[in-house]
Amino acid sequence: MDSINCMTDDNKTQTDTEVACTNCEACCCRMEVMLLTETGVPGHYIDTDEWGGRTMTRLDDGWCTALDRHSMLCRIYQKRPLICREFEMGGYECQAERTAAVRWANS
Ligand code: SF4
Ligand code: SF4
Repeated sequence: MDSINCMTDDNKTQTDTEVACTNCEACCCRMEVMLLTETGVPGHYIDTDEWGGRTMTRLDDGWCTALDRHSMLCRIYQKRPLICREFEMGGYECQAERTAAVRWANS
């Protein structure tokens, strides 16, 4: 990944940075991801609660276990959950996560 503007580029703000995954440190991969359908996610990436609800496991750093911490890319892209497939780049939640990451980095 060339740059990580949403986290570290203090010369730009959210409003003057084009919203793109290539300039984002996978901000949305820190959100809770429920598994609503079967897409082939390997079992060791899945948490199951006492009621049988399944979510992607996250580590102490907040990111999904399936995120490669070096490339900041999804390691199971072809098998990623439905929610990840439908997440809209540039949509409301995307922009909210990017803004939250900037606030967190500047706090
Ligand atoms: S969809 Fe949005 S929040 Fe997720 S990696 Fe792309 S730009 Fe970042
Ligand atoms: S499964 Fe992949 S795309 Fe979905 S949150 Fe985890 S790392 Fe991100």
